Amino acid sequence: MRVLKFGGTSVGSAQRMKEVADLIDDKHQKIVVLSAMAGTTNSLVEIANYLYQKNHDGANEVINTLETKYEQVVDELFISEAFKSRGRDLIKSHFEFIKSFTIDMFTVFEEKAILAQGELISTALFHFHLQEKGKQSALLPALDYMRIDKNNEPDGAYIKENINKILKEQEEQAVYITQGYICRNAFGEIDNLQRGGSDYSASLIGVAIEAEEIQIWTDIDGMHNNDPRYVENTKSISELSFDEAAELAYFGAKILHPTSVLPAKLANIPVRLLNTMEPNAEGTLISSNQRKERMAAVAAKDGITAIKIKSGRMLLAYGFLRKVFEIFESYKTPIDMITTSEVGVSVTIDDNKHLDEIVNDLKKYGTVEVDNDQVIVCVVGDLVADNKGYANTIFDAVKDIPIRMISYGGSNYNLSLLISAKDKKKALNLLSDKLFNQETNEI
Ligand code: ASP
Ligand code: MG
Repeated sequence: MRVLKFGGTSVGSAQRMKEVADLIDDKHQKIVVLSAMAGTTNSLVEIANYLYQKNHDGANEVINTLETKYEQVVDELFISEAFKSRGRDLIKSHFEFIKSFTIDMFTVFEEKAILAQGELISTALFHFHLQEKGKQSALLPALDYMRIDKNNEPDGAYIKENINKILKEQEEQAVYITQGYICRNAFGEIDNLQRGGSDYSASLIGVAIEAEEIQIWTDIDGMHNNDPRYVENTKSISELSFDEAAELAYFGAKILHPTSVLPAKLANIPVRLLNTMEPNAEGTLISSNQRKERMAAVAAKDGITAIKIKSGRMLLAYGFLRKVFEIFESYKTPIDMITTSEVGVSVTIDDNKHLDEIVNDLKKYGTVEVDNDQVIVCVVGDLVADNKGYANTIFDAVKDIPIRMISYGGSNYNLSLLISAKDKKKALNLLSDKLFNQETNEI
């Protein structure tokens, strides 16, 4: 069995839904995981925000606009009056549900129930569309099998047991359709896997059913070896290892949600990134196969703040780093990059919310310097310590750019540089020229 996930843009209009339906053959048994139609979850968040503020007019305005949009989708998606009317009834019932919250008390519980409507609607519409085309399919309700535990982590055992039970109970189908993103929590309440979580759903489902392959369909032809917004002639990477893909997903390759790589890696299920606009293009295959001696890609992460703590007391002392880390921990602020010397430590964060408090607390332990508007540029590939020369190639490429921090050795697949945001475009281009646009991109 295969898992095929289509994101919000891929099902973003009636026309796009029809194209996705045409892509689905019955050659392989498959579970199709859908996001909400593009823009819907944002609108639902907006509705929830108005309801928290008790601004019912604001909420109603967004609700009505969204409902009208769906009425149009129904009209364009279905041909027969019978299906149009089924579609209209479906939309009506979901929007009646959403509107019911404009009169009652509004808490996070109601918010999560509202956020779940986008995926419930997109999957039902898609299911009806397949039926109208005469294609057999069955709906698998994610709320009946997808679950997170008390720590908000997926409950793998529960998911596996329940999805397989539901699949067994149903008559064998070639195509199953299910919702991405939504789940229940440890208390059985409606919850979700966080924004962008449909990729994670696909990965968790793939693991639970021991899928032969997890396909993530978007509107780009796989992961690129550099950021096409800043660099011309980037190329799609045909093969990546799980470790390389995890690094790239984290460093801003929006195509794949970072959390979705780990479950697939642990279960060793290949993940294929494919393009709905170009269904026959090769895309990117992510597997346990690590291509040797290759630099795969360059990526950048914006909005980074660097914090340097210098202290004579760090010299030959133990416990210094722990104290520093505890400050970040107390403000629930993750550290991205870290470098140390005998007299100081530099770290980077991408969440500035508690920067002032953090800096204040750090001053107990030394002098503190802060640099805003930094960018992490990372090179991802087979950079194991046994390979010689790659660091030289990388540094040679960026020899004219001031570098604030360098990090290597945390993984064998990533070398990161911290530079000023104003040098980002130049750095990405220089690295691209050196690593990918010359005769050979081998180390
Ligand atoms: N619909 C959800 C979101 O917009 C989940 C997803 O699309 O992956 O965040
Ligand atoms: Mg997405």
